[in-house]
Amino acid sequence: MPELPEVETIRRGLEKELVGHKILNVQVRVPKLLFGSPKDLTDQKILEITRRAKILIWRLENGFVAIHLKMTGQLIFVPKNAQEKTFIGGHPDKLYGGKLPHQYSHIIITFDNGILYFNDLRKFGWIKVLANSEDLKKEVGHLGPEYDWPEFSFDYFQSAILRRAKSPIKQVLLDQTIVAGVGNIYADETLFCAKIQPTRSVGSLTESEINTIYKCIPKVFQLALKYGGTSSRDYRQVDGSQGTYLKVAKVYGRQGLPCRVCGTPILRIKIGARSSHYCPTCQK
Ligand SMILES: [Zn+2]
Repeated sequence: MPELPEVETIRRGLEKELVGHKILNVQVRVPKLLFGSPKDLTDQKILEITRRAKILIWRLENGFVAIHLKMTGQLIFVPKNAQEKTFIGGHPDKLYGGKLPHQYSHIIITFDNGILYFNDLRKFGWIKVLANSEDLKKEVGHLGPEYDWPEFSFDYFQSAILRRAKSPIKQVLLDQTIVAGVGNIYADETLFCAKIQPTRSVGSLTESEINTIYKCIPKVFQLALKYGGTSSRDYRQVDGSQGTYLKVAKVYGRQGLPCRVCGTPILRIKIGARSSHYCPTCQK
């Protein structure tokens, strides 16, 4: 599942390729993945590409498009001028290699400067055509602030998490109404950065511990963005690799391996239905 830094990396890549360009044609090969009428997209220019949590948003001359890649969605842009580099973002599966379109290319959008393929092995992803900003609000209005918005202040964060004082902090960090876009990897990394065990109840945290967690959220995201998240811009060259962030992650996916700070083996436990990774020595 792509998380916020991965989706932001894709957003930046698509922004370079698509902003200012016109949609000429939309071919829908699996109708359930596209909500709305593909006809509403033709002849429209993309004015801006933004992101809310893990949802990509295209602002068109008339309306919006929202895209969620879910588990295995992938966007591949092949420029008209084959000299230019193809942009690939999303799930790095070897099955996706090879000639396009293929059996998992479910929606194909032709632009004046190239073709965008929406591939999805498991078909959980979607593209929604939204008529106006009211419809867009229905899609993303329930989400909490982004970590880099002024609304995401310490006072806001503290009072928002304290409403769930009895819950483990790990679970509360995953609550998308508190801060949008924190998924499993970055919740684990944030708690390692803050030296807090994931099982601690929010009510047991001191104000200074809450402040440390608050400051760690942007730190962890910024590091992940620097490494392009866990996805890579060009999977074909790195052959199914998971991108570079996991190479520097402190705890996520490192169960049994020595902590990068103290050498204690990293533990993996279940909290709710999700796995959590932490260092029992560094995290209190
Ligand atoms: Zn440690």
